[in-house]
Amino acid sequence: MRFHVITIFPEMFDSYLKESIIGRAVKDKKISIKFYNPVDYCKPKERVDGRPYGGGPGMVLRPEPLLKAVEIASSAIRRRGGKTKIIHFSPSGKKFTTEYAKITTKRYTDIVLICGRYEGIDARVKKIFKAEDISIGDYVLTGGEIPAMAVIDSISRQVKGVLGKYESLEEERVSSSEVYTRPEVLKYKNKNYKVPKVLLSGNHKRINEWKQGQKKRK
Ligand code: SAH
Repeated sequence: MRFHVITIFPEMFDSYLKESIIGRAVKDKKISIKFYNPVDYCKPKERVDGRPYGGGPGMVLRPEPLLKAVEIASSAIRRRGGKTKIIHFSPSGKKFTTEYAKITTKRYTDIVLICGRYEGIDARVKKIFKAEDISIGDYVLTGGEIPAMAVIDSISRQVKGVLGKYESLEEERVSSSEVYTRPEVLKYKNKNYKVPKVLLSGNHKRINEWKQGQKKRK
């Protein structure tokens, strides 16, 4: 899976994408992440943002530098013969889910992620590229960079080889939001906090039933 991120703040991605599972996936070439900064496609002295038609306090990312950035990403993809999905981040878009991540991983080789900033991007860019509006949740952030990292992270988990030895388990196993590690009894301010007995039982059927029960309580 190859990600192509259109952002005016590519440095924001540096530390997150270098560490842990995603960092390893990049090193092992299971995924690749490229950046295209619209600022680089502005003419000399031209600004990347402009005042909104119709008024309002926030600036809007201008269409031409964005078009250029997406075009450059798309032609790189075409040369390799990839299947492309173009996503634009918007708080009012379609809700991103694990199911969406799974389907996208199966269908495409390349994903272009357009990160808005300020009041957003000129709407004509979305129209021209038939980009899909995607939201990562019902709250408003200052930009599409965190949404892009969330989507890259979640989709990468679905790419074969990224989760390594846990992968084959991932489909079948019952995952739980309540997990424990050593010590078996945790002492904190004169109180003992124990790991649920069932998890120490070695009885996998009962353990799975317990995990299912934890899920239902949510
Ligand atoms: N005026 C815009 C909000 C701009 S927020 C509106 O009402 O839709 C600035 C940018 O942050 C957006 O262009 C989008 O790319 C990103 N963003 C903010 N919250 C988001 C969310 N929940 N999901 C996805 N993208 C989001």
